[in-house]
Amino acid sequence: MSASRYGDARHFGAHAPEVEERLALLAEASRVLADASLEPPAVMDRLCALVVPLLGAACTLRLLSEDGLWLRTVASAASTPEARLLFQTLSPPAVRADEGPSHEVLRTGEALWVPDSDPKELRRLVPPQQHGLLADFPFTRLMVLPLRARGRSLGTLTVWKDPAAAQPVEAGEQLLLQELADRAALALDIARLYAAEKQARQAAEVAAGRLARLQRVTAELSQVLSAERVAEVIVEQGVEAVGAARGALWRLEAGNARLLRCTGYEDPRSFMEAFGVLPLEGRTPMTEALLEARPVWLESPEELSDRYPEVDEQRHRVVRKPAPASVCLPLLVEGRALGVLLFAFSEARVFDPDERAFLELLAHHGGQAVARARLLEQEQRSRAELAEANERLAAIIQASPASILLVDMDGTVRMWNPAAERIFGWKAEEVLGTVLPVVPEGKHEEFRRNLEKAGRGESLGGAVMHRKRKDGTPLQVALWTALVQPAAGGPEQVLSMAVDVTERQRSEAAQRFLAEAGGVLATSLEQEETLERVAQLAVPSYAECCGLFLADEDGAVKCVAAAHASAEYHAMDGQPSPGLLVVARVVASGEAELRTGLSEDAPECVRPPDAGGCCAWLCVPLQVRGQTLGALSFVTSRRDYDAQDLALAQELARRAALAIDNARLYREARQAIRLREEFLSIASHELKTPISALQLQVHSLLTSLKRSPSGVTPERLERALGVVDRQVKRQTRLIHELLDVSRISAGRLELSPEPLDLVMLVREVVERFEPELERTGTRLELQLAPEAAGLWDKLRIDQVLTNLVSNAMKYGRGNPVLVVMTTGEATVRLEVRDGGIGIGEEHLSRLFHRFERAVSERNYGGFGLGLWISRQIVEAMGGHITVRSELGVGSTFSVELPRTRG
Ligand code: ADP
Repeated sequence: MSASRYGDARHFGAHAPEVEERLALLAEASRVLADASLEPPAVMDRLCALVVPLLGAACTLRLLSEDGLWLRTVASAASTPEARLLFQTLSPPAVRADEGPSHEVLRTGEALWVPDSDPKELRRLVPPQQHGLLADFPFTRLMVLPLRARGRSLGTLTVWKDPAAAQPVEAGEQLLLQELADRAALALDIARLYAAEKQARQAAEVAAGRLARLQRVTAELSQVLSAERVAEVIVEQGVEAVGAARGALWRLEAGNARLLRCTGYEDPRSFMEAFGVLPLEGRTPMTEALLEARPVWLESPEELSDRYPEVDEQRHRVVRKPAPASVCLPLLVEGRALGVLLFAFSEARVFDPDERAFLELLAHHGGQAVARARLLEQEQRSRAELAEANERLAAIIQASPASILLVDMDGTVRMWNPAAERIFGWKAEEVLGTVLPVVPEGKHEEFRRNLEKAGRGESLGGAVMHRKRKDGTPLQVALWTALVQPAAGGPEQVLSMAVDVTERQRSEAAQRFLAEAGGVLATSLEQEETLERVAQLAVPSYAECCGLFLADEDGAVKCVAAAHASAEYHAMDGQPSPGLLVVARVVASGEAELRTGLSEDAPECVRPPDAGGCCAWLCVPLQVRGQTLGALSFVTSRRDYDAQDLALAQELARRAALAIDNARLYREARQAIRLREEFLSIASHELKTPISALQLQVHSLLTSLKRSPSGVTPERLERALGVVDRQVKRQTRLIHELLDVSRISAGRLELSPEPLDLVMLVREVVERFEPELERTGTRLELQLAPEAAGLWDKLRIDQVLTNLVSNAMKYGRGNPVLVVMTTGEATVRLEVRDGGIGIGEEHLSRLFHRFERAVSERNYGGFGLGLWISRQIVEAMGGHITVRSELGVGSTFSVELPRTRG
């Protein structure tokens, strides 16, 4: 369209167009409006071009603001450039819609003719340099028309008329203007609808695109497990989804934000170094988003540099082309930020609400995924810890030296460890699911009570209980229990741990037994009573029958103490089992004997009819100082004795032997003391007797000599001197005996062997006794071998013979004495027999001991040393001396000597 077609603008604006012109104008309007693109500005401009200059000198098209308060100028036209200048000055970019003529027009939907304005008022409105223009274009007459479409006014069209026109606006012209305005309004409305529809379509497309991207991200996130992978998906997919150039994700860890993933950076390493770990106290958009739990939108580089100058500076060092816009989105879960997501855009931008909402939604999903990953990590960690703890626990249970069992409240076994297999003998597969088989007969009630107690939370803490092994052997265990509540619900169970304390109990019992026995043994030195009590101690805890046997001087063994659980326990010989045969063997060998696994008909042991089962016995020697004093025997039908029982019996025997020995030594010491005291009184008496006799003889001789020296006849003198000689000899012999005692006791008995014929020596000694024999009227007979040669100490043999012959005379009651000598190839045997008082059996064994005498010192003198010295001499020569005697009948002392030794 060109203005020239309609001629001069001032001319056209001044005159109302003709009908043809109007029709042409309307046709043109229809064409251009239809022709024009549907963009609203284009519609407006074309409308103005139709109005000016043909229908007015200038026009303004105003559209209502969305809130309906303002009318904004969207297009205007003026007939000349000058007019446009003035017109722009007079026409403000927006006028209020609720006042003035526009308000009226909008309200009624009818055009309004505004009467002439006051020119003075106009002058006031424009600057002075435009006053000239006012003369040419006195915009004083105008018409305001509504832009009507679909029953509402979209705005106004204001047309200034040329003031030169005769009529303000004729009706036809007004109609034409209104027609144009309405057509333009319709076009505008359509354009608007079209634009709105296009925008809506575009928005829908964007939204759909975003939705699709979001769906992709969430779908992927839903499969992601680790935090690193979550970060990867959110960052990589997110950057693509939101059209960002770069992205990064930090996770909150131990008071810092740690970078998990970044993408789009030319130098990710330096980015990592600069922003890898963000302390929360530092001021960055990321930490602010984290701490304040809200997004930080940065739409331009200036905004970033204003708000975070430090980050901006740092960013410029790290990133070659810093992004002009970015957003930091906290990854929120239940109001708490777990991390922060950064998207940086390559252009400054305004984040519209939709985009913001989308980004926040993305961050929301990211937050959920991070939380899920964290939960998963935690769960995996706790699963791993649990698995480790379980493994450790299983290892402990497997390696435990104590049995560990789990039983239901009805006693059904649910767990059975290797130690339980070792202790009780049942394999796990044999007991699992069955009722605990280790409880012995008679203990089931106690077991049930203990389970009930455990059920009430009263656990056992090491109580000692009786149990049995698979092979039936009893055992004692220390038991600990605890109630277990299964985590997965279900009925309660009892955990029990047991340690086999059979051996410990046994050794404690053994210690107690030995301590008790020690006490008993220490109470008295009277052995009979003590031994009886020791035997009783062993019954019934160790034996049903216990016997204590001692050997006498001749080695004969006899039972001195016994205890029985039942009197029916004995051996076939009536002695405590296993009988004298076994005991004698043990005493002889000094070796303990142990028999186990005996059947009921074992001959060593007679048992009561109801004592079935196996039977075992033990016999241990009572030994002390290398001597076997006797033996101790034990019999049981309850179990087999073992090495421990043997050790206990041996220990008891050792202690008992010591006590017996002590008692013996004590008795002997007392006896020795008694003998020594007797000896001292005898010795003083014995030593005094010859001296008294001597004194008497000497005194009587002296008295006779004083009275009459010639009165002492040679016979009297000889008799007196004979007595003196005998008494001196007796005294000398006594002193020699005493000297021999000290010599022998000190081990200084020295022998001087020489070749000797013993027959000669016997004759010599007997000859020496002749005066005595004669005096006492005793007959002495000799039955001697022709010769008895050997190597002997003559004086010592003389001493032995003298002692035996003198005793035979002394205790012989004057009956004949017989000295018999027989010889063997290597030995010589000498016997001195008398028919005297004899010796009581009780004295026989001790006759050769020091100071031992079988007679009272009142009747017979003597130290009680002669036989002891004789024995020492004979034994020192390798021989031996014995006695056979019968009280009141006589005695025979025998000496046997080897020929070759002196
Ligand atoms: P003693 O000096 O008392 O005779 P011995 O040692 O020679 O001392 O004798 C010890 C005891 O043995 C005597 O006290 C006496 O009781 C007894 N005895 C010795 N020889 C005879 C005998 N031939 N007949 C009877 N008893 C005797």
